[in-house]
Amino acid sequence: MSAPQPRTQPEAECYQRLRSHLAFLKLEAAAEALSAVLDQARTQKLGLTAALERLLAVEVDATETRRLTSRLRFACLPAPWSLADFDFAAQPGVEEALIRELATLRFVDDGANVLLIGPPGVGKTMLAVGLARAAAEAGHRVYFTTAADLAARCHKAAIEGRWATMMRFYAGPKLLAIDELGYLPLPAEAASALFQVINTRYANGSSTVLTTNVGIAGWASAFGDPVVAAAMLDRLLHRGVVIGIDGPSYRLRSHTARAETLRTAVQAGHAH
Ligand code: ADP
Ligand code: MG
Repeated sequence: MSAPQPRTQPEAECYQRLRSHLAFLKLEAAAEALSAVLDQARTQKLGLTAALERLLAVEVDATETRRLTSRLRFACLPAPWSLADFDFAAQPGVEEALIRELATLRFVDDGANVLLIGPPGVGKTMLAVGLARAAAEAGHRVYFTTAADLAARCHKAAIEGRWATMMRFYAGPKLLAIDELGYLPLPAEAASALFQVINTRYANGSSTVLTTNVGIAGWASAFGDPVVAAAMLDRLLHRGVVIGIDGPSYRLRSHTARAETLRTAVQAGHAH
């Protein structure tokens, strides 16, 4: 980018001072764009207001991008999926209108929870990641974890005397996604840690998205103490949406298609 051609010495000095003001204020994107915007202002006869607006818009864009990047880094999403990638035609078990409603993120403002229940491969993790990403993009602080990881970190924190810090960490994000509850057995101590996290978030009005393969009726026997399981469900469901996905496994789709081809071929063979 060529430097603007100041006509006079005072104008050149003023330009240098302006650049150092921007640098001092750490408005680096604006400092970078200054000479181009001044050129545009001259050639396009922009007024002072329009030129200032254009210069600061550059800085605002850069800051927004930087903050989003840092929110996404913090969020630890396990995959780059977004809700737009979800194929509703392939998963008749999911009500599209409900997911579209969740995608407006009103549930995050309301501090409501989302419980995704279904067998492996039906898209639970994908939907949880998609909701988490949408929330991060909308400016919310988001964190994604698995139930096993949460339990392990709470266990370690308890041993090391950092329990309160750990609880504050899980209470912090506006949206916490806990994936794969029930895939591994949950010892009583882990169930109690999970309950504390869910309960604190419930009290704060922060949303939790939880995926599990265990239907609500099975919670009492699956998660250690039935009383803890019931208390957990109570908090989750009080302000909560339950999405039961009972459709086909997306992971097994290609296998199913292959098996179908084989079966057809075998049947055709028999017919001859
Ligand atoms: P679950 O968590 O229920 O076991 P996942 O969300 O991990 O299932 O989905 C398994 C795989 O199938 C992932 O690669 C995911 O991207 C893909 N998948 C599942 N459902 C869909 C869908 N409806 N549209 C597109 N991809 C899907
Ligand atoms: Mg999963």
